[in-house]
Amino acid sequence: MLLPILIISLSLFQPSVSADYHSSSIPENFIRCLSHEFRSNASILNPLLHFPGINSSYESIWSSGIENLRFLEISSSNRKKKKPLAIITPESYSQVQTTVKCCRNSGLRIIIRSGGHDFEGSSHASSSSMFSPPSVMVDLRKHLRSLEHGAIDLIHKWQEVAHKAHEDLLLSVVLSSAGGSTVAQTTATFRSLFLGRSDDLVKMMEEIFPEIGLRKQDCEEMSWIESVMRFSLYPKGVTSDALKNRVAPFPPPYFKGKVDLVYKPIPYETLDELWKRCSSKDYDRINNTTTTTPPIIQIDFYPYGGKMNEISKSETPFPHRKGVLYEILYIVAWLDQDENNANAESYMNWLRGLYDFMTPFVSKGPRGAIVNARDFDLGTNDGDGHIACGSWTTTSPYSKAYRTWGSRYFGDNFRRLATVKREVDPENFFFSEQSIPPLFLHPQMREMEL
Ligand SMILES: Cc1cc2nc3c(=O)[nH]c(=O)nc-3n(C[C@H](O)[C@H](O)[C@H](O)COP(=O)(O)OP(=O)(O)OC[C@H]3O[C@@H](n4cnc5c(N)ncnc54)[C@H](O)[C@@H]3O)c2cc1C
Repeated sequence: MLLPILIISLSLFQPSVSADYHSSSIPENFIRCLSHEFRSNASILNPLLHFPGINSSYESIWSSGIENLRFLEISSSNRKKKKPLAIITPESYSQVQTTVKCCRNSGLRIIIRSGGHDFEGSSHASSSSMFSPPSVMVDLRKHLRSLEHGAIDLIHKWQEVAHKAHEDLLLSVVLSSAGGSTVAQTTATFRSLFLGRSDDLVKMMEEIFPEIGLRKQDCEEMSWIESVMRFSLYPKGVTSDALKNRVAPFPPPYFKGKVDLVYKPIPYETLDELWKRCSSKDYDRINNTTTTTPPIIQIDFYPYGGKMNEISKSETPFPHRKGVLYEILYIVAWLDQDENNANAESYMNWLRGLYDFMTPFVSKGPRGAIVNARDFDLGTNDGDGHIACGSWTTTSPYSKAYRTWGSRYFGDNFRRLATVKREVDPENFFFSEQSIPPLFLHPQMREMEL
């Protein structure tokens, strides 16, 4: 049985601790392996190792930058949420290789953390890569409008317009219902990012979407990095240096998200129903809960089209390309104001009900999903990753993964991913809830695939 270890591939912390590894629950042979590889050089090794109860750094690294409080709650009965035995923060490729080698030799399982943003908490940290601001200035035109009347008409029209808009214009819509009050009303917000000057944008919007009534004074010009800050909800005036702190500008909520892809405009009546379901009143009716602080519901509509149409389905693992009008991201978030987070399950079930309701109106065969919005509801790998080589069956890990989540995230590219996996990791050492399984085929069974 492989046990969890957590690796962070980019080290954020370099505490100079001298740990008593031997009193931890980490296997002796793992420590021996590391000591051997590092030639017992404690000044290099010690700062990379973080053990619970031994190094104070363990807790802070484990919880740092967490974006979803659901994954801070660890229960020993929940296997998926077991805390790692140790955290390793390698600082170079060779240290990553050494760590993998020692974990493998010692029968330890690893969890990999990069940015730490995985929707289902497959790792817990934030170390998003930093990019230098572009040398060329780009401009953002941002237009916000909360609508109480006619919103459905505008969203209905948006479906026809946004995916055909100029490729320098991203025009998205957000339906939201803020929690925190008993009467949370749904609002629609049109948010746009345009790479160009505001005069050009106003002209363009007049032609394609005059109903919005965009004026120059609704636009704000800024550099691209400033637009990143704005979309990330940093308050005005905060400079991009804040990104280096790797701390979100607001406290993380608990949340659950799901996505859909839309190929045909959604009928007016369905949009109307979606609007109603966003209101907390509807939430209470459906769930019969007594919460005084309704959850925050946010439904984002992101247009596709533009460059997305030009890239073939098989060019990268991401298959949702030509023909997709837009993506819908459904989020329910809450702030644990109920005792023991008691309503968490009903909030998530409410979201699942909304997802069911949308079934007839979104992609099918299979219903598409996006790995960046990872969703364990779609299915997860069984067992602990041990693969019986050559034992392909209709219930093999590959086959099951393809039918449940694999084809939804990756379409036909899933098979290629699984073939690569067989080449690079035939023992399935890198295994997690939705890791790609290696594809093994009995030669005579090739015809029977899937
Ligand atoms: C608040 C928030 C906002 C977001 N906004 C966006 C957005 O606007 N657009 C967008 O595209 N995405 C968005 N995302 C999604 C996020 O950016 C993606 O999920 C991203 O791919 C996460 O990358 P990461 O480097 O942070 O992965 P990490 O969270 O560090 O995860 C590491 C990856 O390794 C995998 N892994 C871990 N252990 C193993 C193992 N042993 N074997 C194999 N695999 C393993 C995990 O499943 C995970 O996929 C958002 C996420 C959050 C939380």
